[in-house]
Amino acid sequence: MTEEIKRRASEIEGEIIKLRRELHQHPEKSGSEYLTRDILMRYLSELDVEIGPTYFKTGFAVVIRGREVGKTIALRFDMDALEMDELADCPFKSKHDGLMHACGHDGHMAMGVGCAMVLSKLKHMMKGQVKLIFQPAEEDAVSGGGAKYMIEEGVLDDAPRVDAVVGMHIWPELKKGEVGTKYGPIMAASDPFEISISGVGGHASLPHKCVDPILIASQIVVSLQSVVARNIDPFDAAVITVGQLSAGTRYNTIPQTASLKGTLRSFSQETRDVLKSHLEKIATAVATGYGGEAKLMFGNGYPALVNDDEMVADMKATVASILGEDAFKSVERPASGGEDFAYFALERPSVYLWLGYGESEAKVNPPHSPYYAFDEKILKDGVMTLCQVAVDFLK
Ligand SMILES: [Zn+2]
Ligand SMILES: [Zn+2]
Repeated sequence: MTEEIKRRASEIEGEIIKLRRELHQHPEKSGSEYLTRDILMRYLSELDVEIGPTYFKTGFAVVIRGREVGKTIALRFDMDALEMDELADCPFKSKHDGLMHACGHDGHMAMGVGCAMVLSKLKHMMKGQVKLIFQPAEEDAVSGGGAKYMIEEGVLDDAPRVDAVVGMHIWPELKKGEVGTKYGPIMAASDPFEISISGVGGHASLPHKCVDPILIASQIVVSLQSVVARNIDPFDAAVITVGQLSAGTRYNTIPQTASLKGTLRSFSQETRDVLKSHLEKIATAVATGYGGEAKLMFGNGYPALVNDDEMVADMKATVASILGEDAFKSVERPASGGEDFAYFALERPSVYLWLGYGESEAKVNPPHSPYYAFDEKILKDGVMTLCQVAVDFLK
């Protein structure tokens, strides 16, 4: 089977690179991936696969059934681009002003179609089903992302019911030819928050007639520093950062209100809950203590992405079998970015893989850079790895 995967992946390499370039030229905003879906459909409808229903506007699933019914593994590919101008000198540069595939999701989708091309030719050798999930809006944490809504609409429960999920992201910290992952958390929970403080405004010369919201805001910022230091296990990692503090319109006036905005990062639900509850306790207690009031609001953050131990344990042998002995990298530290694949991992045993594009010497342009670029040779590695992971899981 491994030799068949390699052979088929080599055959389609040119086609998936062509597809990746077409997607790269037509980036779309989170939740508006309509043209993207049309491009993907043009390729997928040529194949012997079942194209499933639409989920969450532009998302959809594709099913490949083996000769016998068995378990179902899902492979997930995100679809959205970022609102930025492409500055890289790229021969297939973005044709959509102010939008760029700067996170590699064009490559992810091309790999998804590549998996459909390869696996649809190996169906007769497979037992069980593979569900390819094309997911919109990964980058839009403010609206809650696409994964959560696809799950709510049934993408994991609809037949064939999914038993496990695999995600893959093109990643700068691993080298070309490497695939890696880690046990436990691999991406952070990220929770935006806002604290609105009300006081009593008045003349700067009469502070005793006022409740100063600037003093309250300042005390809250200082007191929040104790949460990570005193409430979090020293062997856990967490961040509380206030990135915005606004209050006042004049030098000689105590304002009526103040506002703080910031973000929390954590790697487990337990730590995330501790951060949120202490943030709330401190903000309200400090404000009340000074005679004012604080209201706390959390935005739609993503939970921490936590890999399933058993699935991680299988990856070393799987990756070695298809890419070679040295290809698998055991990653030690999680990344502090968020990823809505986390919602799949909350629902089913899941593993999130990083596909390296780093060069050994040269500095790479990281995701979300206007110069972002990767060597398209890695796409074939990604397709082969994902196909092998699927086939091994279904065995
Ligand atoms: Zn991104
Ligand atoms: Zn991304």
